[in-house]
Amino acid sequence: MRTADCLLCSAERLTTWHFEDERCWVADCLVCATPMIVWREHGLPDAELETALLGVLSEHASARYPDGFWIDGERRRIPDHWHAHARPAGGFFDPSRSAPWAAT
Ligand SMILES: [Zn+2]
Ligand SMILES: [Zn+2]
Repeated sequence: MRTADCLLCSAERLTTWHFEDERCWVADCLVCATPMIVWREHGLPDAELETALLGVLSEHASARYPDGFWIDGERRRIPDHWHAHARPAGGFFDPSRSAPWAAT
């Protein structure tokens, strides 16, 4: 089911989308600019599906960050709609985005 006021359910294409299928989509995060995978359902998948979805994210992350990446499964802003970030090794934001406090 979809929840009307959920940012992830509305799935607006505010950034570059890398992938989508009937289960999920992968796009750059509006905040971090790192690739983020979002389940199409509002809620949390079972462990088996979660593993499969993280596999999809890892494929995109390894192409984007050949020097390594880590999966950040913590849902800070929207805890009840499953999503996960892939972040560059040793970093949090994508290198294309200068951190707000470091902007020149
Ligand atoms: Zn949602
Ligand atoms: Zn983010």
